Amino acid sequence: MTDERFAKDFAAIDGLIRSHGRFLLLGHVDPDGDCIGSMLSLASFLRARGKQVACFAPGGMAEIYLELPLAGLFMREDELGAFEPDIVFALDSPTTARTAGPAIGGAGVPVVNIDHHPTNELYGDINVVDERASATAIVVYRFLAEVAPERITPEMADYLYLGVLMDTGGFRFQNTNAEALSMAARFVELGARPYELAHEFIYAKKLSTLRLLARSLESIEVHSGGRVAAMHVSREMIERAGGAMSDTEGFVDYAASIDDVELAALFREIEEREIRVSLRSRNNHDVASLAEKFGGGGHRNAAGLTIHEDLATAESRIVAALEAMLAAGKGSKS
Ligand code: AMP
Ligand code: MN
Ligand code: MN
Repeated sequence: MTDERFAKDFAAIDGLIRSHGRFLLLGHVDPDGDCIGSMLSLASFLRARGKQVACFAPGGMAEIYLELPLAGLFMREDELGAFEPDIVFALDSPTTARTAGPAIGGAGVPVVNIDHHPTNELYGDINVVDERASATAIVVYRFLAEVAPERITPEMADYLYLGVLMDTGGFRFQNTNAEALSMAARFVELGARPYELAHEFIYAKKLSTLRLLARSLESIEVHSGGRVAAMHVSREMIERAGGAMSDTEGFVDYAASIDDVELAALFREIEEREIRVSLRSRNNHDVASLAEKFGGGGHRNAAGLTIHEDLATAESRIVAALEAMLAAGKGSKS
């Protein structure tokens, strides 16, 4: 699908690619499947054109993504300085604070910002931000389809499919629209493997992850007559169950799946006073605006923030804010 809005930007990006050799692709902290899929599909495209490519996202990848064929392109933070890029791409990264800020805007290196978050700060020299797209991977695909459709390989299609698969929660979230589904079909036509990707990234779990899930399910508490749900993963729970904090992608969906729950929150204790909060909503509740009040951001139905309090305080503050939101929004259900 061509998008008139971005035709000029796509042409400009194509020009930058043609005339430069070294590309740094950045993602957001704790990159998810859409972030990684978007980065690696573009990385694959650039490498096939003989370019030097390095990838970086703060926090590093969750274990499930380490087996991806191009995962080795991801650098550690201490390796970042040695790679001097001509062009920086930021993918799925709404703010410079959530990606490698220092690598952005340094030494006059042009920044191309490709994303789908409505809260994107438009910090790039070129900004291609489509908040209607279900995944950044869809925006990347539109660019590739516009400038070099014949160069999209099955490997790139796999990465693009992964992005849509993970950001729509396996085609179940409210952002699952006609475009997401038709793009998925297109990616399969181009060689993506829907069964293998769904199996590997959604279905298959390590035993330690299930044990951790069991503990965090036990932590669920509901408020506001069952319309708000909160769950947590503490460092102690991880120590007992094994595994890592990065194994908890998707846990929040269990709290959100409870009958009657309209607002759900997962609290992850990254450090003793560093709590990462994931918010999910049903109906018309806008959790992105709530997240922004706490310095975070995201989408209407899926947002996040970090709060520097102990776990219990973070939980009670955010639950209170969610309850207030529900009370203020009485009768505003869509
Ligand atoms: P998560 O809960 O980590 O799955 O994040 C849900 C959505 O909110 C994703 O689109 C994130 O990119 C976004 N998000 C999460 N945390 C933050 C934050 N601290 N600042 C801005 N956006 C965030
Ligand atoms: Mn993301
Ligand atoms: Mn995304």
